[in-house]
Amino acid sequence: MTWYQTPGTALVTGASSGIGAEYARQLAERGWDLALVARRAERLTALADRLREHTGAAVETLVADLARPADLARVEARAAADDVTLLVNNAGINGYGPFAEADPALLTKVLHVNVVVPTVLTRAAVPGMLTRGRGTVVNVASLLAFAGDLPPGPLPHRAVYAGTKGFLVTFTRTLAAELAGTPLHVQVVCPGLTATEFHLTSGDAPVPGEERVHDDGGMAASDVVTASLAALDSGEAVCVPGLREAEAVDR
Ligand code: NDP
Repeated sequence: MTWYQTPGTALVTGASSGIGAEYARQLAERGWDLALVARRAERLTALADRLREHTGAAVETLVADLARPADLARVEARAAADDVTLLVNNAGINGYGPFAEADPALLTKVLHVNVVVPTVLTRAAVPGMLTRGRGTVVNVASLLAFAGDLPPGPLPHRAVYAGTKGFLVTFTRTLAAELAGTPLHVQVVCPGLTATEFHLTSGDAPVPGEERVHDDGGMAASDVVTASLAALDSGEAVCVPGLREAEAVDR
């Protein structure tokens, strides 16, 4: 029996759009109940209503700005609850722009949302998962985490963003080693360019020389999530949609 044939409750951050909404959809279709986290209440409510209607899943919405300590504390408490057997740390922001001109407050926020939040939510969830003998944590990083080692290589104006995603790769792989021998699974997913709102909402406009990366819109969020769930099924700690783990970590 595969891990997702015995569903529990999945807590998904950044579930109001894009890859997070697609995790919600695919997990609900596999029988999971959901706790969905994001700031945009109306988006979460609409998604929750759709999923309840089409799949029968129990879907809870947690409207929270993960950059705010009180909201993050609420989500930490939810991640630590007994029913949560899957945590998907998907929420992320970009902070795109020339590093020398970057607003330090924005850079701090990128570090917080992309690094601090998944770390503390994982810390909240793992002890209970160990006690209960079951649990999975998925961290959504990026191909840019492999700056230089995988296409498209390092891209300008994303130094801090790519750095945060590099953290998630190293964090997850090291935690996977620590948790080997326990029933827990951890996985980092490293999508390439994916057709979501990310590049609109985060001001990530093409810059000269990068049209090649942007002009085809990228892969579908559904393909990213399908690859992630399939990789979980086979126990891989690193999932690069479109590449095998060995190819990703050996290059
Ligand atoms: P979206 O912009 O569609 O999704 C981002 C999600 O994060 C939204 O649901 C947003 O919800 C949520 N979010 C952002 N800030 C906060 C916050 N402060 N508190 C709570 N939720 C927040 O883009 P994607 O689906 O593409 O992005 C999902 C993940 O995938 C990100 O981590 C991104 O780095 C990663 N990724 C994306 C790629 C791409 O090309 N699209 C490629 C590689 C990785 P709301 O605004 O409602 O709060």
